[in-house]
Amino acid sequence: MQADRYDAIVVGSGATGGWAAKKLTESGMRVVMLEAGGNVTKKDYTEHTQPWQLPYLGMSPKVFKDRPIQGTCYACTEHNAKWFVNDNENPYTQDKPYKWIRMRVLGGRSLSWGRQSYRMGDIDFKAASKDGYGEDWPIQYSDLVPYYDEVEKYVGISGMSEGLDHLPDSIFQPAMDFTCTEAHLRQQVKAKMGRVVTMGRVAILTKPLNGRQPCHYCGPCERGCTTTSYFSSPFTTVADAMRTGRMTLLTNAAAARVTMQDGGKADGVEYIDTKTRELKRVRAKVIVLCASTLESTRLLMNSQICNSSGALGKYLMDHIYQGGASGLMPMFEAKPWAGSPRRPNGIYVPRFRNIKEKMTNGFIRGYGYQGGSTPGFSFNSPGFGKDYKDAVRNGQFGMSLGLWGECLARAENHVELDRTKRDAWGIPTLKVSADWSDNEKKLWEDGRNQAAEMLEASGAKNIQKTGQYSVPGFCIHEIGTARMSNDSKKGVLNKYNQAHDVENVFVTDGAAWVSSGCQNPTLTMMAITVRACDYIAREYSKRMV
Ligand SMILES: Cc1cc2nc3c(=O)[nH]c(=O)nc-3n(C[C@H](O)[C@H](O)[C@H](O)COP(=O)(O)OP(=O)(O)OC[C@H]3O[C@@H](n4cnc5c(N)ncnc54)[C@H](O)[C@@H]3O)c2cc1C
Ligand code: SF4
Repeated sequence: MQADRYDAIVVGSGATGGWAAKKLTESGMRVVMLEAGGNVTKKDYTEHTQPWQLPYLGMSPKVFKDRPIQGTCYACTEHNAKWFVNDNENPYTQDKPYKWIRMRVLGGRSLSWGRQSYRMGDIDFKAASKDGYGEDWPIQYSDLVPYYDEVEKYVGISGMSEGLDHLPDSIFQPAMDFTCTEAHLRQQVKAKMGRVVTMGRVAILTKPLNGRQPCHYCGPCERGCTTTSYFSSPFTTVADAMRTGRMTLLTNAAAARVTMQDGGKADGVEYIDTKTRELKRVRAKVIVLCASTLESTRLLMNSQICNSSGALGKYLMDHIYQGGASGLMPMFEAKPWAGSPRRPNGIYVPRFRNIKEKMTNGFIRGYGYQGGSTPGFSFNSPGFGKDYKDAVRNGQFGMSLGLWGECLARAENHVELDRTKRDAWGIPTLKVSADWSDNEKKLWEDGRNQAAEMLEASGAKNIQKTGQYSVPGFCIHEIGTARMSNDSKKGVLNKYNQAHDVENVFVTDGAAWVSSGCQNPTLTMMAITVRACDYIAREYSKRMV
């Protein structure tokens, strides 16, 4: 098989792959990027397309027919379903219920992500030292600070500084505004409970940056953003890599296997051209896997490499969520308003549990909340004329808080390769086995109680505890399964995301994670990728001399 040679192969073009390509090409390396999905242009963006402009008015039966799993995600609709994997072509086995939400398109899930972006701190990286559970990361917060800074200056994160050690501040663009009821909650919860309520920290511009325009609050970001106001890779990192003239982008190229040469080094990647179904190969001196947590692990498993530790596939995590409280905020009058603009963001309550203590109410670690308050109007009120108008104008502010809780790294939460079940391109698929432990369930219940107490403290009425445990995976924060460790017997990767077993293979996406924290993970995944790629570029240039 004829194979082109490059300095590096990057597999995946999403949040992490885009950064890997940008960093490596800008350092002078020639890179080929393999992306399993198709290309995307701004013509594919539909954030301003109304349902009546769609063939099925937004209710296409094909979404659920082809994507019975993806279609359960709020972000996968008739507008953009083609970006999400076809579940029939891309099956996996759920040993226990597990939702694996995947996108196969240039940009991956960065096209539809929720953009919530929070740094992690040493309370997360060194959690095991504090409470004795699991393993510390082989890196600490100070190792990542320059890389968080680099990513944030480029991506653009809007938010407010709060000066908390356990939720370090980012380099912020101006924060979005609170509604009056959110400002009230912030003030009351601080005064009565000493807790912080802040504006959500989001990868959305509130000021122009590098030719990208600030957000105009149109709302449905998961369908793309013509003004590139939220961060996604195709028109930022991937475009920068292309501009160097040193990147070759291969779309519709599903990586199947890392190939090895004598001497224990990898020498390339075999992939299927999904248009022609041909098996092809590219060769390079360095291989960087950014195919997303479970896809990168699947690739390593199908290549039968990087598992001398026995840790490959183990310690799968997600965040537990879909629990909280809601209520009404009668202290402010809700006046009819024109509807849009819609702020694509909510409020955030940073973790307050187990900051100093090891354990509270029988659980370790903690949770944060996302939520918000907007006015609601009873458009379904009965009656006609004045009665109806009065009923409709009589709006109320609602308030809701939902928790995002840490998930412990447990070996029994794992994936394995099922060689008997293959995807549409003949690549063996994964069997996923994951469930919540008592710790997640206890912190979830505590989070619901505390949400209700915070609403109570703010004067909310009709407070209800809400939700049920999310299905593992459905937070779409899957992490772990090829974790980092200084000890090659305990982990797959070293502190630079380099495989202990194969020194020219790197995995920089969420597979590398050791513990989950409770923050949304993508900002940290990107910072880790930039750090690893700085290391690759440094080492590569040394060996060239
Ligand atoms: C609806 C939604 C909301 C979210 N909200 C948030 C949020 O608010 N905050 C947050 O931090 N995170 C959020 N996430 C998660 C976030 O999108 C991911 O953490 C992030 O995109 C992971 O980056 P990645 O580069 O590892 O993977 P992805 O961005 O998924 O990119 C992986 C890429 O690799 C490609 N690929 C996969 N397999 C192969 C293969 N075999 N060969 C070649 N290419 C391959 C895929 O096609 C894809 O383009 C959300 C996700 C979704 C879907
Ligand atoms: S709300 Fe803002 S970030 Fe979202 S699609 Fe509209 S302009 Fe872009």
